[in-house]
Amino acid sequence: MKRKVPIDFAEERLNERLARTGLRFTAQRRHVYGVLLEKKDHPSAEEVFMRAKDDMPDISMATVYNCLDTLVKCGLVKQVNHDRGATRYCSNMREHHHFYCDECHGTFDIDYDPSAEEPEIHMPDGFHVRAYEIAFRGICPDCAARKRGK
Ligand SMILES: [Zn+2]
Ligand SMILES: [Zn+2]
Repeated sequence: MKRKVPIDFAEERLNERLARTGLRFTAQRRHVYGVLLEKKDHPSAEEVFMRAKDDMPDISMATVYNCLDTLVKCGLVKQVNHDRGATRYCSNMREHHHFYCDECHGTFDIDYDPSAEEPEIHMPDGFHVRAYEIAFRGICPDCAARKRGK
């Protein structure tokens, strides 16, 4: 099966990031990165493993964990944690927040303009903000439509 991802571009970016971090380029790392770029629905490590196996049947869970770890380290993928759910992986490196749907437990990217004003939160003395992320919870459009249709 051919991947729809512009893998040449992705491969170049991966190569460059790995080199900068002093890590080796491997077929597994490229493959796992491709899986994350193909469907940006914030899969868990387990889901990445299931998808990675489609085209690379002998890849192991341990290798997938290792690849994910590497991709996070070189800044191509972000870990997303919500409540006590499994860690999810996000390959969207633009500044964005996350919206969590209470119904389908989907995680959605909410873009924001990084030059926009910061929310007004009183920061106690001594704390310096480097980045912030807002977590939204609610109901996604698909789930809302399903509820309406009932
Ligand atoms: Zn939903
Ligand atoms: Zn995301």
